[in-house]
Amino acid sequence: MTRPSPDGEGPSFAPGLPLGAPARYDGAMPDRDDIPAAPRFLDVALPLPVRRSFSYRLPAETPAPAPGCRVRVPLGAGVETGVVLRVLDAARLEPALRDRPERVKEILEVLDAEPWLDAPLLRLGAWLADYYGAAPGETLRAMIPVKPLKRPRQPAPEPTPPRDEPPRPTPAQSAALAEVTAALDAGAFAAFLLHGVTGSGKTEVYLRAIAHALDAGRQAIVLVPEISLTPQAARRFRARLGERVGIFHSGLGAGERLAVWRGAREGSLDVVLGPRSAVFAPLPRLGLVVIDEEHDGSYKQTEKPRYHARSVALVRARALGAVVVMGSATPGLESLHNARTGKYRLLSLPDRVGGGRIPRPELVDLREQEGGLLAPALEEALDACLGRGEKAMLLLNRRGHSRLRLCRDCGEPQRCSRCDIPLTYHSGRERLVCHYCGQERPLAPACPECGGRRWVLLGAGTQQLEMDLELRFPGVRVLRMDLDSTSRRGAHQRILDAFAAPGPALLLGTQMIAKGHHIPEVTLVGVVAADTGLFLPDYRAAERTWQLLEQVSGRAGRGERPGRVIAQTYNPDHPVLAGLAAGRSGDWVERELRDRRQLGYPPFRRLTSLLVSAPEEEAAEEAARRLRRDFRDAWPDSPAEMLGPAPAFLPRLKGRHRRQLLVKGCLTRDQKAWFSEHFAAIARAMRRTGALGLDLDVDPESLL
Ligand code: ADP
Ligand code: ZN
Repeated sequence: MTRPSPDGEGPSFAPGLPLGAPARYDGAMPDRDDIPAAPRFLDVALPLPVRRSFSYRLPAETPAPAPGCRVRVPLGAGVETGVVLRVLDAARLEPALRDRPERVKEILEVLDAEPWLDAPLLRLGAWLADYYGAAPGETLRAMIPVKPLKRPRQPAPEPTPPRDEPPRPTPAQSAALAEVTAALDAGAFAAFLLHGVTGSGKTEVYLRAIAHALDAGRQAIVLVPEISLTPQAARRFRARLGERVGIFHSGLGAGERLAVWRGAREGSLDVVLGPRSAVFAPLPRLGLVVIDEEHDGSYKQTEKPRYHARSVALVRARALGAVVVMGSATPGLESLHNARTGKYRLLSLPDRVGGGRIPRPELVDLREQEGGLLAPALEEALDACLGRGEKAMLLLNRRGHSRLRLCRDCGEPQRCSRCDIPLTYHSGRERLVCHYCGQERPLAPACPECGGRRWVLLGAGTQQLEMDLELRFPGVRVLRMDLDSTSRRGAHQRILDAFAAPGPALLLGTQMIAKGHHIPEVTLVGVVAADTGLFLPDYRAAERTWQLLEQVSGRAGRGERPGRVIAQTYNPDHPVLAGLAAGRSGDWVERELRDRRQLGYPPFRRLTSLLVSAPEEEAAEEAARRLRRDFRDAWPDSPAEMLGPAPAFLPRLKGRHRRQLLVKGCLTRDQKAWFSEHFAAIARAMRRTGALGLDLDVDPESLL
């Protein structure tokens, strides 16, 4: 068994990790020619929260499936789908079964004629399970995000849009491209950070780099944040690269998803574009991975296995000698640091393609304002913009009508009974909704605390802003984009199309409006509350605010006319806001990096979050305390530092009390595995098996 070398404190992809190290469960992976004679057995990974694999017998008449194929197997009283890791003869069964191989159950069915996971992808799965402390079977299942279909229907082929003629690259684009194509030609692993301001033509660099890889007979994956995966973005890739581009996203039906995955495996597709799970696309000749908006939080999976698609892409590419291009106008601080320390090579596109200036936000100090949602300065700017027949966008990062419904007599908000969190008022349906568990409640006529019947609504959300704008700007098209208005398939694009139609229009919404859209007639961006996310108890809160404001500012002035950005804030002196307004966000980045080094946060030290939950508060607290104490006893020499337990940001969620432990510093893969295994022992000792939960999050994207 090979261990990863201790990978030192550092940024988020494990440097020095020996790729191709055999995993705990993979052993030798025989070629088909190498398959032993009957009786034959299969070593199968099942999607269960355990680290072991399971042995099954192969019926005599069934040809042996290759490793990476899926099989249906009996498990207890039920049936499970697993992934074949290898074919064994009786001598290689585990000792308990070796003497009585007739006790080994037979598989029910082989689901795939060709494997979904080739040897490099199986090794990637082994790395992923080890690094993220996830179960191998659960990991491999996540890597095959398609379901077996009895009779897969081929989706109707999409019409091929005439090919776009590529524009002539700018000198900055050419320079960036030259480095990427040289790396592709060298055929060795290289990672690039393409730092390009909004509208600087990063996509053009991706397109040409992909074309270069395809010309050389290699293939490409393009990762995009889920939300900007509009047909529009996809169309742009198809229009340039042709029908060998497969688009993969959560809005597809099962048959369409299967068709993309199959096209990748079987050679009818050379490019797969999609959100984070597209990093596993089974392209056999992968040469390039593009990660657009590399800072985006959606690249981190929020359920098990909690992988980061950027880290996975880097590890996959390194094993294959492939090139990774990560692009952003606001790279994450980890990536900036990696570029400085030489892990990534930095490419810059400092200017907009047409030469247009990126507007700096003008700050409106709300401490000196009275009344409504919009300060007079912003209202006047809106009047002027719409009056000229142009378009404006307004960011308010809070959905619903009002954040709180408070009793006027005792001041208590109406809360979610399962999460203790104040409920958000949604107009239209006239409901209170918990934004954490989704539970809906009617508006209570009387306060449950004091019986009072007078209520007040506080904290405006997008619904309220929409109503205000419709009253204030009669006759102007007002469109709202948030989670509620985009739940239907295609709604996102319909809203954008309606907004882009000729004539004055207002688009308001949550952070969704900040991403990727290119609408030249937008000349004004208003930020209704720039402070919403600034003081969340997460070390990334300021970084996220910086990224969001920079991104939303980048929506303005993308056409002929210059743009203007007005941000309303109670904190005009905060380094993020003051820095943006002065056009000196670089200063803030330096200061933030200094603070993080001092406080021991990423990119200088790694973090792992351990969230312990239970229906009873005492059980959660006790289990978390035991876990901390036992870790110290089991690993007395570990340099990792453990903080907590403390109540999580949401101390109760869906009826479960939550305690958080935070580990600063590196954990070995044995330590990560120890947490899950030992936690099960703690639960048994406390007689709370099944009630206690542990959520291990390596490199957490959010501490909230
Ligand atoms: P980014 O991804 O950096 O925000 P885009 O790639 O969307 O920027 O480019 C912004 C606009 O500039 C798009 O309309 C694109 O078609 C155009 N563009 C990009 N490169 C060139 C070029 N070399 N010449 C002319 N137009 C270009
Ligand atoms: Zn709730």
